[in-house]
Amino acid sequence: MTYIDVILPLPLKVNFTYVVDDDMAQKVKRGCRVVVPLGNKKHYTGIVDRIHHEVPVGYEVKYAYGLLEEQPAVLPQQLQLWEWIADYYMCAKGDVYNAAVPAGLKLEFKPKVETHVRLTNGYRSEETLQRTLDSLKRAVKQQDLLLSYLQLSAFFEGAPCEVSKQDLLAHHNTSVAVFEALVKRGVFETYPYVISRLLEKEQQVSGLKPLNVYQQRALCQIKQCFEKHSVCLLYGVTSSGKTEIYTHLIEETIRQGKQVLYLVPEIALTTQITERLKKVFGIQIGIYHSKFSDPERVEIWNKQLSDNPYLIILGARSSVFLPYQHLGLVIVDEEHESSYKQQDPAPRYHARNTALMLASMYGAKTLLGTATPSVESWYNATNAGKYGLVELKERYQEIQLPAILPVDIKELHRKKMMVGHFSPVLKEKMEEALARNEQIILFQNRRGFAPMVECHDCGWVPHCVHCDVSLTYHKHTNQLVCHYCGYTTAVPHTCPECGSEDLRDRGFGTEKVEDEIREMFPQARVARMDLDTTRSKTAYEKMIRDFEKRRTDILIGTQMVSKGLDFDHVHLVGILNADTMLNYPDFRSYERAYQLMAQVAGRAGRKGERGLVVLQTGHVDYPIIKNVMNNDFEAMVHGQLAERQVCHFPPFYRLVYIYIKHRQQRLTESMTAQMTAQLIKVFGEERVNGPMQPAVARVHSLHIGMIMLTIESTVSFTQARKLLLQVEQLMHQDTRFKSLQVYYDVDPV
Ligand code: ADP
Ligand code: ZN
Ligand code: ZN
Repeated sequence: MTYIDVILPLPLKVNFTYVVDDDMAQKVKRGCRVVVPLGNKKHYTGIVDRIHHEVPVGYEVKYAYGLLEEQPAVLPQQLQLWEWIADYYMCAKGDVYNAAVPAGLKLEFKPKVETHVRLTNGYRSEETLQRTLDSLKRAVKQQDLLLSYLQLSAFFEGAPCEVSKQDLLAHHNTSVAVFEALVKRGVFETYPYVISRLLEKEQQVSGLKPLNVYQQRALCQIKQCFEKHSVCLLYGVTSSGKTEIYTHLIEETIRQGKQVLYLVPEIALTTQITERLKKVFGIQIGIYHSKFSDPERVEIWNKQLSDNPYLIILGARSSVFLPYQHLGLVIVDEEHESSYKQQDPAPRYHARNTALMLASMYGAKTLLGTATPSVESWYNATNAGKYGLVELKERYQEIQLPAILPVDIKELHRKKMMVGHFSPVLKEKMEEALARNEQIILFQNRRGFAPMVECHDCGWVPHCVHCDVSLTYHKHTNQLVCHYCGYTTAVPHTCPECGSEDLRDRGFGTEKVEDEIREMFPQARVARMDLDTTRSKTAYEKMIRDFEKRRTDILIGTQMVSKGLDFDHVHLVGILNADTMLNYPDFRSYERAYQLMAQVAGRAGRKGERGLVVLQTGHVDYPIIKNVMNNDFEAMVHGQLAERQVCHFPPFYRLVYIYIKHRQQRLTESMTAQMTAQLIKVFGEERVNGPMQPAVARVHSLHIGMIMLTIESTVSFTQARKLLLQVEQLMHQDTRFKSLQVYYDVDPV
């Protein structure tokens, strides 16, 4: 008997085993899609992980229904990567399968089909056609339609090309009845035609841009570095031309017949970089991210399995899951970005670190690029000597980095000189920029406070009924929304606590800033880029294109505007309030604040003159503000490394957050407390911190308990994870705790 172990799209700890019939046993391969029965639900599409002859004991083995196709849909390297992710990030393989494979592949995939039209066999000679046209003299509309077909299909110019029924009817605005008449006469017949959703317009390619001397030197150093290390960190200031260097490396890699994965942290970034790369590589580049429709993603997946795959994939984090046949180079652009980490649901993987693993499986090289390295990568490239390091300190055309002007808003608030959230200096610089017809970027970090509604009399603030968070006020729809669970409710007319009618909006989101600008500069064309305005794929693209084409004067945004965008006419950047970044209670807040400010500043003055950044803060004297002003990344990172060593944080220690979830608060608290005690027994008091207060203690009506585990990076992390899973097992043996959900966040960001 032949058995298969199958990965199912469910959060299961183990693979399920099925028996296969002789016919299937002949055909089945690892990585094939297979339909299998499970429980009461009729069937699932799983992936074959292992084929063997070991008779399972203890339960009745069911037959697999059948294979969806004989060629594997998942390559062995992908299965190996799934295994690594499930193991390292402590989740189920089914979770990885769910995240990795587009939904369309979990069912039978239907290609996109159009109805096409052709002449029937007997009507394909010029002679018969002429006779037919003559015979249609009294049916002028049919005659016209036949002539239209001959024209559209270029019939007389040799082999006729494809004509869709829809195009044919539209061509002359003909009715379906006329068309049907010609079908009845036996002149036309229809047939289904499979069309690709991947539009591949041949494009004029223009070759590589020559590198300047600094860029050439960096490229040379990167290649030297790859002789010794498999990973290289390119630390190049904003607008030094890192993207141009990547382009040269990509060209060399595909010339050797190898594939390239180019990862960007934000879908918004694919738009600009796609255009730059398409100019050089034309149709050899495929784009992949979650805003693509599922059928499009399935087609890209299948193309990557075919013998004509894209040589270059540009994408956001999920593109690490695509099939690669001969990967030679991985580029992780803006490697410091925390959006590379998936938060929810599992797998909570870090795409940069996963990409490093992927590359190593293929013996490929990885280039990490950024103007503001993460503390971890910096440490790996310097103290630890794990990566090579290449620096590029000159901006392209040697334009200076922007001047940074700090503005003390605490003082200005006291003197009542602020106009809304704008200092007089910022307002003045904006007026000047607009008068010179320059564009402006304003940055407002949303993470600090979300805009809320508050009762001016008693201080009541509306909260979500399912989660422990206040609701966010959306002015355009006049609604209150929970950003965790999506719960939506109307803004009440009176305060439910005290009955007052004086409900005001408080807080400080991008929407508020937009309103203030419209009031101050009614002539200016303003666009706002944040999670709410960029839900669709086209919304991002349009906003960026409008700004590029100078159809917008002022772009306001959250962290999205800080990430690697390249605009030519931005001279002024305003950081509205740096303090919202500094007050965040997280060991990474300084690092992140520095990165955000340096990156958003880097959008200013990329072409022509030196740019200007107005940095509003209540803490002008903080060292971090000084670091940003002096563009002193190294001072920041040395300070942070010293602190993290003392306080037991990465990169000296690895963190795992353990979450416990249940409807009942008492049960959640009691399991969290007992698990903490058990963990202390196993790992020692030094390494366990709990129970901790999670940022939000209740989501979707589930209570959350949290424990932090801290493991020195010098000890075996594999062993630590094994012990941790044993503790979980032990907890779940207690009947009271059986139904509590436990999950992990490894290397949280
Ligand atoms: P970074 O990625 O380091 O921020 P970019 O690669 O976006 O920098 O380069 C900044 C700008 O300078 C871009 O508009 C880019 O086209 C231009 N640029 C950089 N290097 C060159 C070069 N060698 N030739 C022509 N233009 C360049
Ligand atoms: Zn009130
Ligand atoms: Zn909620």
